[in-house]
Amino acid sequence: MSEIKTQVVVLGAGPGGYSAAFRAADLGLDAVVVDARETLGGVCLNVGCIPSKALLHVAKVIQEAKHLSSHGVTFGEPTFDLDKIRAWKDSVVNQLTKGLAGMSKMRKVKHVQGYGKFTGANTLEVEGKDGKTTITFEHAIIAAGSEPVSLPFIPADDPRVIDSTGALEMADIPEKMLVLGGGIIGLEMGTVYNALGSSIDVVEFLDQLIPAADKDIVKVYTKTLKGKFNLMLETKVTAVEAKDDGLYVSFEGKKAPAEPVRYDKVLVAVGRKPNGKLIDAEKAGVNVDERGFINVDKQLRTNVSHIHAIGDVIGQPMLAHKAVHEGHVAAEVIAGKKHYFDPRCIPSVAYTEPEVAWVGLTEKEAKEQGVNYESATFPWAASGRAIASAATDGMTKMIFDKDTGRVIGGAIVGTNAGEMLGEIGLAIEMGADAEDVALTIHAHPTLNESIGLAAEIFEGSITDMP
Ligand code: FAD
Repeated sequence: MSEIKTQVVVLGAGPGGYSAAFRAADLGLDAVVVDARETLGGVCLNVGCIPSKALLHVAKVIQEAKHLSSHGVTFGEPTFDLDKIRAWKDSVVNQLTKGLAGMSKMRKVKHVQGYGKFTGANTLEVEGKDGKTTITFEHAIIAAGSEPVSLPFIPADDPRVIDSTGALEMADIPEKMLVLGGGIIGLEMGTVYNALGSSIDVVEFLDQLIPAADKDIVKVYTKTLKGKFNLMLETKVTAVEAKDDGLYVSFEGKKAPAEPVRYDKVLVAVGRKPNGKLIDAEKAGVNVDERGFINVDKQLRTNVSHIHAIGDVIGQPMLAHKAVHEGHVAAEVIAGKKHYFDPRCIPSVAYTEPEVAWVGLTEKEAKEQGVNYESATFPWAASGRAIASAATDGMTKMIFDKDTGRVIGGAIVGTNAGEMLGEIGLAIEMGADAEDVALTIHAHPTLNESIGLAAEIFEGSITDMP
C-alpha cells in the first residue's frame, strides 16, 4: 500500500479531469490525477470524440470520391483494409494520448492508474495493477464521466450487440446493422459503417433524428439520408432475440415491420449515464442524485465545499468542451480565483455528413420560453461556394431577440457546419446584434458568408449611420 499527499486530486482523466489537473498545476498547485485507464484523455480521446472523428474522416473521403463521378472524375470501387483503417484510428488516438502524457509530465502532474473511490472527506483509495494507493487531499475534483446506457431487454453479453466503444473497435463490417437511437453518437457511427458498406437501419422513438436540434435544420439532414439509412421514426424496439444466424429484432410503432428483422449487429446508442454512483461519494459526504449526477454551484462546488465536480457527471450537455471549461473554472476556484462557469451558450455538433450544429437558443426553446424572437434562414442552394462545392444540402439559421436585435441562437446544417458555428457562438457571447454580424465582411465565396446573409434578413439589421 503506497500513500500520496496532494493539494488537489482529480478523479477521472477525461477532457474535464486532465484540463482541471493541468490548470491546477499551472496555477502552482500540486495535482494528482487518478484514472482506471492506462492513458489520459478519458472517453473523449480513447473511445469517443477523437477515434470517431478519425473514422468519420475516412467516411467523408469515400463519399466525396463517389460524388466526383457526377463531375467527370471516376475512381474505382473502394476496397477496404480494416486492419489499416483501425491502425489509422489508433495512430490518431496514440498521438494525442502521448501528447497528453508529455504535457502531464512537464507539469509534474502525477497519474495514478487504477480505480478510485472515496474513503473519507479527504481520502481516496485507488486500486490499481500494482496494489492500493491511499491519496490524502486538500481539494478533490470529481471528473468521473459517464458510460453508455444499456437496455434490459437486449442480450448485452452477445458480441453482436455493441455500444459506441464496440462500434469504434471495428471488429468487422456487418452486412446489416441496426442503430438503436437517432442521436448524435448513433448517427455518427452509422455514417462510418454505411460508408464502409453496411446497410443501416436507424430506429428512433421520437418523430425526428437529433431531437435536441430544430426540426427544420434536422429535416435538411434527414433528406440526405435517402438511399443511405432506412429510418424508422416513432418506432421502438421491443425485443432482440439472439439466434445462430443473427439478431432478430421486434419493433412496435409507426414504421414497425410486421415480423422480426434479422441483423448482423445491433448498435445500442440510446444515451449515456453518469458514473456518480460508482465512487463511494457518500463516504466523502457528497450528494449524488438517483440517476448518478452530482449537483454543483456556479463554481463547480458540490455540497462539500472542498470537493468540486465537472463534466458528464454533473449533467447535460455531455460534451467534451463543456467539461474542459468546467475543469478550468474548478481549478481556478481552488487556486483562490473568483471565477464562475457561466457561459451564455455551449455549442453542439453532430459530425455526420452533412454536419448538424447548433448553439444558443433553438427556435423550439425560444418558443417554449416565450422569447420575442425572429428567425432568419439562408439556404445553401443560394450560396456560390456551396454550389461550387456540390454542398447545397445545407442551411444557416440565426435567431434574434426581436426587441434588441441581439443574436440569441443559431444553427447550421451542411458540410463543415461545426467549424462555422464558432462565429455564432462568439456573437452570442459578445452580445452582438444582427447589424454587427451583417456588417462584418465575410470573405467571398465562403460558406461563412451565409451567416452574414442570414443576419441581413433580420428586419432592421442595417440602420442609418450617425
Ligand atoms: P470522461 O471523458 O467520461 O472521462 C472520465 C474518466 O474517468 C474515464 O477515463 C474513466 O476511466 C475515469 N473514471 C471514472 N470513474 C473512475 C474511478 N472511480 N476511478 C478511476 N477512474 C475513473 N463530445 C464532444 O464534445 N464532441 C464529440 O465529438 C463527441 N463525440 C463522442 C463520441 C462518442 C462515441 C462518445 C461515446 C462520446 C462523445 N462525446 C463527444 C462526449 C464526450 O466524450 C464526453 O462528453 C467527455 O468525454 C466527458 O468528459 P469528462 O471529463 O466528463 O469524462
